[in-house]
Amino acid sequence: MSGASPYAGMTVAVGTMHGKDAAFAPAFARWLDAGVRPSADLDTDALGTFTRDVPRAISPEDAAITKARAASSELGTPLGLATEASYAPAFGGFGPVVHEELAVFVDVNRGIHVTHGVRTFADVAPARTVTDEGEAGQYLERIGFPHQAVVARSEGALRKGIQDAAVVRDLVRRGPVVLEPDLRAHLNPERRRTLRRLSWMLAARLRTPCSVCGCPGFGLVDAERGVPCAACGEPTAQVCAEVHGCAACGEREVHARAVSVADPATCRWCNP
Ligand SMILES: [Zn+2]
Ligand SMILES: [Zn+2]
Repeated sequence: MSGASPYAGMTVAVGTMHGKDAAFAPAFARWLDAGVRPSADLDTDALGTFTRDVPRAISPEDAAITKARAASSELGTPLGLATEASYAPAFGGFGPVVHEELAVFVDVNRGIHVTHGVRTFADVAPARTVTDEGEAGQYLERIGFPHQAVVARSEGALRKGIQDAAVVRDLVRRGPVVLEPDLRAHLNPERRRTLRRLSWMLAARLRTPCSVCGCPGFGLVDAERGVPCAACGEPTAQVCAEVHGCAACGEREVHARAVSVADPATCRWCNP
C-alpha cells in the first residue's frame, strides 16, 4: 500500500438486496478509508436468481456491472460495487461444486470497472424430494439449517428463505416437497465468508496503482495456459502465467508461475 487512498472519504454504493454491504465494509474502511452503503430500490433479483424463477440472460460480469452502475446512480455517488455468484459441478456432477464469486467495482469518474473473482469448492447439497417429516429433518440437518436457509417447491408453489422448520413440516404434510439450499448471501454463511475474503482482495487491489497511468485497480486480468505435460510434452490447460493489467490503459505484466511441467493426469492426450 503506497500513498493516500484514491477513494478516501468517499462512499461506495453496493447493489444488493441481501446485505452484502456488511461483508465489504471492514475491508473498504481499512484499506481505502471509504464507506459503503447498500442500494434501496434496486431489484437485484430481476437480473436472474439461483432458483430459476427468473432466468439469467446476461453474463455474471455484465450483471454485476449493471447492478453496480444502478446502485451508484441511485445513491448519487460515482462509485458502485456489486457481486455475482455462479455455481458449477466440480467433477462431472457429483460431490462438491465450484463456487465462483465475482466482484465488480465501477468508478464512473475514471470511466473504469475493476473485476476480481475468487473460486472455492463449496459444499452445496443437491436438491432432494422429501415425502415425510423424517426425510425433511435429515435434509435440514445436512445443510446446516436454520443458519443456511432452504427453498421449498411443492405443487407449483415456490417458497424461498425458509428458516423455520415448522414451515417445512406443514408443507410436507400436504405432499412431496423439493428442498434445496437458498444460496442468497444473507441466508448462506459459507457464501458470506467467501464474500468477506473477496472484499479484502478487491480493496487491496484498488490500492494498487498502474505503474504507467496511475489508475487504481491494477491486478489479475487473465491467465495464460499451456504448461507442457511431463509425459508427452503437449501443452495442457494448466496455468503457466498470470497476466496483470490496468483497467484504464493497455499496461500488462506477465507473471510466470514456477511450474515447468504438468501432471500427466491433467493432459488430454495421456489421460483423456
Ligand atoms: Zn501428456
Ligand atoms: Zn494504466
